[in-house]
Amino acid sequence: MSREGELRDHIARWGNLLYQRQLAHGSAGNLSARLDDGTFLVTPTNCCLGFLKPEQISRISAEGELLDGEPPSKETFFHLAMYEERPGAQAVVHLHSTYSVAASCLCHEHTKDDVLPPLTAYQIMRVGKLPLVDYYRPGDKALAEAVRLRAREHRAMLLANHGPIVSGASLEQAVYAYEELEETAKLYFILGDRKVAHLNPQAIAEINRVFPS
Ligand SMILES: [Zn+2]
Repeated sequence: MSREGELRDHIARWGNLLYQRQLAHGSAGNLSARLDDGTFLVTPTNCCLGFLKPEQISRISAEGELLDGEPPSKETFFHLAMYEERPGAQAVVHLHSTYSVAASCLCHEHTKDDVLPPLTAYQIMRVGKLPLVDYYRPGDKALAEAVRLRAREHRAMLLANHGPIVSGASLEQAVYAYEELEETAKLYFILGDRKVAHLNPQAIAEINRVFPS
């Protein structure tokens, strides 16, 4: 099977699994991956990830033009902004999963550069700092510019009142990082107002030194 065929299979299987794990619902959420020729595979608009088939997946140019498959997700433009700023990114995952979206709805007046406190080593390794991107209405192309500004420094970010965008060096890595983020957001809410022992700056620096992203 060609690399494109393999990636189509992969995207469909991960989409199905993320839906089964209840990280995606209805027709929300989209996955994408970069092909060697500079084009991209993106999940189609109005598709349910739970029933996605490999042949439905859209292939688009770097400018967002449809090359084959069904019309791409309306959120494709911010995937492309992420790829443009992160040459090492091979895949992007964007879902509307419950705990991450809940975190995106909180007021983060003083924590916009890193929304979630440092709770676990895997959060630091897989997600890193999680900046908040201001709210934009669905489809507003100004969101692409806001994403671009954060993408230079961050592999993951949280769109206010919307949900996360997470990139990775492979589709698996992007999915694992997304799942780690969702679990971290869940922990954050479970811990609530209790006195929490956050990882200290020395511990974070050591993790980043031993496991560079
Ligand atoms: Zn969305």
